[in-house]
Amino acid sequence: MKTVKTVKTKNIIQRIKGMNDILPDTSRVWQWVECHIMRLFTAYGYGEIRLPLLEKTELFKRSIGEATDIVEKEMYTFLDRKGKSFTLRPEGTANCVRAAIENGMLYHQQQKLWYIGPMFRYEQPQEGRYRQFYQVGVEAFGFLGCCIEAELILMTARLWHELGLASKITLQLNSLGKPAVREKYRDAFVAYCQENIANLDEDSKRRLKTNPLRILDSKNPDLQALLHNAPRIQDYLDDEDKQEFIDLCHILTQAGIQFKINPYLVRGLDYYTGTVFEWVTQDLGAQGAVCAGGRYDNLVEELGGEPTPAVGFAMGMDRIISLILKSAESNESKLPSYHPHAFFILAGEAAEQQGIIIAEQLRSALPDLILWTNCAGGNFKSQFKRADKSGARFALIIGEDELSKNMITCKDLREDHPQQMFNISALIEYLRRALRE
Ligand code: ATP
Ligand code: MG
Repeated sequence: MKTVKTVKTKNIIQRIKGMNDILPDTSRVWQWVECHIMRLFTAYGYGEIRLPLLEKTELFKRSIGEATDIVEKEMYTFLDRKGKSFTLRPEGTANCVRAAIENGMLYHQQQKLWYIGPMFRYEQPQEGRYRQFYQVGVEAFGFLGCCIEAELILMTARLWHELGLASKITLQLNSLGKPAVREKYRDAFVAYCQENIANLDEDSKRRLKTNPLRILDSKNPDLQALLHNAPRIQDYLDDEDKQEFIDLCHILTQAGIQFKINPYLVRGLDYYTGTVFEWVTQDLGAQGAVCAGGRYDNLVEELGGEPTPAVGFAMGMDRIISLILKSAESNESKLPSYHPHAFFILAGEAAEQQGIIIAEQLRSALPDLILWTNCAGGNFKSQFKRADKSGARFALIIGEDELSKNMITCKDLREDHPQQMFNISALIEYLRRALRE
């Protein structure tokens, strides 16, 4: 005991700030969400793509944009042993596009892809904002028009519904128009900011020179009045952009999706070209964005591919899981249980050896059975305690008596039934019936 204590206080290596361990009690919620995602995305025709965590730094600089928060200050970049610059991926779109081009998946083709995994950003860690966080992303290549955008949004709406989150998450939409439209708008917005430069905060003054549209994203309450009177991008959209946006809104309304048009929604990455959207919640404080995306028709070409229309989104898994845990009461009944159905109490060495073999026979006959074996010694009393603590419904018992008769006792730990002794095939049938209940 003494040694353990010393190790704990003096020698323990702690995790890196902003990078979390996800323990079994919570990971079962992750698995539950992931199962829904896999099934749903497959049903909409998306295939999973698995990508490296590490890419050449150049990829993110070129795609996300030099003057964005991510590239300016959030990337984990380092030189390898040969002096080449690599970066831990801060988001998934850039490496998905890189992989799709490199594997010849885009030219004259349509592709619907999704991915899941950790992303890395050197941010100020706080609730809902981590340095290693997890995104699920979806990218559709080769589709023009608003139909695919509508379908993507409807797919996410269906997911919120399945996860019991529909009443907690709302949709915000905007259109940034074609690049030429955005240029014109940018000039007007910059002129407006310059007229009002005295009222801008330091961050916005800096952004005015580097990435002015990001000023619209500012959370500073003192800037809100100024931004409210700024020129609006909707007034600059050309007829085609306007019609596409109207059509998208129409489909969503027809499908019963409520949304709010947010003229300040510009998104932090440079590559968006048309519709942008965010699903937000009021229930997670400042970290309210749970899913964000839009159209990015120029990125494939900018990364060296043939011009290919593209649209996608990424959702923040950590925030979705927090939301589910916050509404655990309404969800608990839907979450998979990780409690065992049965706990094998094995008294003595001979019983242990016999029990392990019987446990294997039970597992072969009943693949859905969750069965924990004691495997840790102890008398009957302490093993019963463990069985109870495990949450198992049944205790299966092998002691001297059972050993001599080649039988197993089964005791219902949750209901007051008399315990029964079975041979192995009768026990299998008994458990099979119980699992069906
Ligand atoms: P935010 O405005 O919250 O910084 P963002 O615009 O940087 O978000 P995106 O790059 O669009 O976020 O990523 C998509 C989603 O990934 C976000 O809506 C959010 O749910 C999640 N996300 C982004 N950064 C983090 C982070 N550091 N920790 C946890 N989740 C994150
Ligand atoms: Mg961010």
